[in-house]
Amino acid sequence: MDYKDKTNEELIFELNKLQFEHNTLKEDYNKCIAKHKSQEVIRPNEKEQIKVILDLIEFPIFIKDNDHKITLANSAFFDIFCMEEECVIGKTLVETVPQKESEHFLKVDRGVLETGISDQQEEELTVKGFSHTILTRKSRFLDNSGNRFLVGYIQDITNRKKAEKILQESFKEIADYKFALDESAIITITDENGIIKTVNDNFCKISQYTREELVGNTHRLINSKFHSKAFFKEMWDTIISGKVWRGLIKNVKKNGEYYWLDSTIVPFVGVNKSPYQYLAIRFDSTDYKNVIDNIARAKNLHSSLFDNSAIGLYQTTPKGEILSANNAIIKMLKFDSLEDLLQRDLKTGSYVNENKRIEFETIIQERGKITDFESEWYTKNGDIITILEEATATKNTKGEIVRYDGSVQDITFKKKIQNELIEAIKKVEESKKLLNETGKIGKVGGWEFNIDTLKQIWTEETYLIHEVDFDFDPNVENGINFYTSASKPIIDKAIKRAIEFGESFDLYLEIITAKNNLRNVHAIGKADIENRRIYGFFQDITLQEQVKKELIKAKEMAQENDKLKSAFLANMSHEIRTPMNGILGFSELLKNPKLSGEQHQNYIQIIEKSGKRMLNIINDIVDISKIEAGLMKMDIKESNINEQIEYIYTFFKPEVKAKGMQLFIKNTLPKKEASIKTDREKLFAILTNLVKNAIKYSNKGSIEFGYVKKGDCLEFFVKDTGIGISRDRQEAIFERFIQAEIEDEMARQGAGLGLSITKAYVEMLGGNIWVKSEEGIGSIFYFTLPYNVESSKRNNLKKIEEKGNTENQVKNLKILIAEDDEISEMLLSVNVSEFSNEIINVRTGTEAIEACNNNPDLDLILMDIQMPSLDGYEATRQIRKFNKDVIIIAQTAFGLTGDREKSLDVGCNDYITKPIKKDELDSLIKKYFNK
Ligand code: ADP
Repeated sequence: MDYKDKTNEELIFELNKLQFEHNTLKEDYNKCIAKHKSQEVIRPNEKEQIKVILDLIEFPIFIKDNDHKITLANSAFFDIFCMEEECVIGKTLVETVPQKESEHFLKVDRGVLETGISDQQEEELTVKGFSHTILTRKSRFLDNSGNRFLVGYIQDITNRKKAEKILQESFKEIADYKFALDESAIITITDENGIIKTVNDNFCKISQYTREELVGNTHRLINSKFHSKAFFKEMWDTIISGKVWRGLIKNVKKNGEYYWLDSTIVPFVGVNKSPYQYLAIRFDSTDYKNVIDNIARAKNLHSSLFDNSAIGLYQTTPKGEILSANNAIIKMLKFDSLEDLLQRDLKTGSYVNENKRIEFETIIQERGKITDFESEWYTKNGDIITILEEATATKNTKGEIVRYDGSVQDITFKKKIQNELIEAIKKVEESKKLLNETGKIGKVGGWEFNIDTLKQIWTEETYLIHEVDFDFDPNVENGINFYTSASKPIIDKAIKRAIEFGESFDLYLEIITAKNNLRNVHAIGKADIENRRIYGFFQDITLQEQVKKELIKAKEMAQENDKLKSAFLANMSHEIRTPMNGILGFSELLKNPKLSGEQHQNYIQIIEKSGKRMLNIINDIVDISKIEAGLMKMDIKESNINEQIEYIYTFFKPEVKAKGMQLFIKNTLPKKEASIKTDREKLFAILTNLVKNAIKYSNKGSIEFGYVKKGDCLEFFVKDTGIGISRDRQEAIFERFIQAEIEDEMARQGAGLGLSITKAYVEMLGGNIWVKSEEGIGSIFYFTLPYNVESSKRNNLKKIEEKGNTENQVKNLKILIAEDDEISEMLLSVNVSEFSNEIINVRTGTEAIEACNNNPDLDLILMDIQMPSLDGYEATRQIRKFNKDVIIIAQTAFGLTGDREKSLDVGCNDYITKPIKKDELDSLIKKYFNK
């Protein structure tokens, strides 16, 4: 029999049966033994009988003598050892079993034989490799002769032992399960009426009732009244029918709190097929239940949100076919219902710009989702709305997109507002910029400060006016510190009154900037007490103030000039009238035929002197007017200063000599280094003026003029031993119109313009002029000019030969005089007669050209500039086209500087100022022809 296939119940049943059989046998045996004992000795015929009886017994029975030899045994004994009777009787069987076992058997046998005490024990017996568990009982009996015998029986309990082992293991397993279940679950057992019979600790713990309170009660004690009657009826119907019920039950604790149990109720069905008890195994599911509830709630919320959301929600196939859409999207796209919308294909029917849909698909396919996607959609009625879309792609296990879940928001209005906002911000920025720009142009800054914190805010221009960096942190205190000591108390008081009484202020003050510049400012402040602030404007008016000051100065100067000019005009009038009087008066006297020759000469000299004086005045007026009007031009050319000085020396030498004085010159540079770039005419005028004055204001001694080189400059000087100039007049003499105010007989001989013209010229040429003088001793006038050397170009002007003898060597020139005024022509003719052998006279420019054409051998032309029909400039220009050799000397009126330059430009070799003085003309002719 294989016990492994048996159920526990069957094994127990088998075991009990064996036990019963064993007991019966034991009884029979004992009876037998008792019978034998009474007879004391077994008789031989009795032995046969016994054998027959023994054979009837299923258990192996044996009798051993004192030497452990088997004397009697039944067939069951032979069977267990698998041996024939003949091989057993009279043997010890020691060889049959393993040594260890046989030693044990012998030891037990010996003990029983010796002591007579019966022995019963479980032993191991191995026969032919098969092991058995046997229960052996051994007793001793003595025969009549006192021989000791051992009677024993064997019970093979191998199967029983195996069954017991399995049973034990099963019990252990069940106990483990029970323990585990008890530990983890909440267990109750109720009888068929629902009365609680057993509860475990867990149930007591969760219900908060003691075991005593629970046992004998029904589950009503813990009923939360949450479930319906139908719920419990269904449960009872299930378990009564013998089926297991499972479900969530909400119970109430002793303290009134609720808890959920995931319960499994197992009915135990008895022989009458109806349950006699119920085992409930439960687990605390309060958390689980909560989760379930939350999920359910979330599901509800989700569907409610889906339907009621203000955001449009949709699900579409990747092709754009709508799977679901909420009310918001239907409304947004102006459809009547979901069915209406379902006609629409979101892929092709919505996007205004098809490329947008392509872009949408590309992104979602690449990234699996798309956010903040802005596009324009058509509504049902064709309106265009701006949509902000978000969507996620759902993929199947193969990774293919099966669905898009998306949300859309109509941001048309938002977008419009946003655009308007951007526009508004742009405008604000522009106005801010404009304000800043305007601030910059007008140098107007803004400021504001909080009355409580005294922290200031400045606009950009305010920082610039204060000349501080933009990281400067202004407050009222450091703001006030910029003001000058005179302005500080004023602004301080104004701000205090603004804070205290809300008074505005409008002040003109001064600040010292961070870079230590003094600035005039216009500070305007307004109080806004309600908002706890003072604010205002701040304007840099330094320039305006300066202009204002300069204007006042200019006005004063203009007034002063006006005064001077009036005085000057009065003087001019006097200056012009005086020589005029002389000329007209003495001309009148000349008419008298009774005049002596000496008187005659005398009057003519006075007329000549007066004429010269008047001409000087007129020349000066013309020059100063040009300087004043800014019309005086410069003509910078190579000029040899040694030559000029020598020329002036030659020119003035006779006049100085006539006064009984001496004239010296000092040229410190060798002639080839004495070429500078300057305006030759102006330098000539400067030197002439100064030398003229030296002669004019000296009556004795000597006059010396020249120059020395000092660094980059040439320092010129004109020194005399004349009347000198008092210290207080040394500056005034260079000022225009000053002369008129000087009360000095001798000084009043001039118009007082010579030195101011001279000074203007010196400055135009880049130099300075000053005087050192002592009254009664003499004066030295100094002026400087920059030493502008150009070594490559050398002056190739023809030299003025300084020759001791003034004898004329120039003769036989063929001279053309172009002059429209008859008297002037006569004067010229007389003056040049000594140099010429032929003089041709013409009246116009055209005639001059013609004459020149007809006389290619002409040596000299004296060309008047102002002539009718064609003037001297044009005539010269044309003559130069065919005759480059003839020397042309222009006669210019009134010494106008412009005329001189122009005449040289058109091709004249030189010029002479009208009225023509004989010695001047002689020098010029000699300059060109005295070779
Ligand atoms: P004026 O035509 O009066 O000479 P200037 O401007 O040339 O005008 O000179 C101004 C004044 O300066 C003269 O009137 C004279 O008083 C004084 N002055 C000029 N040069 C000399 C000089 N070399 N010696 C003394 N006084 C002079």
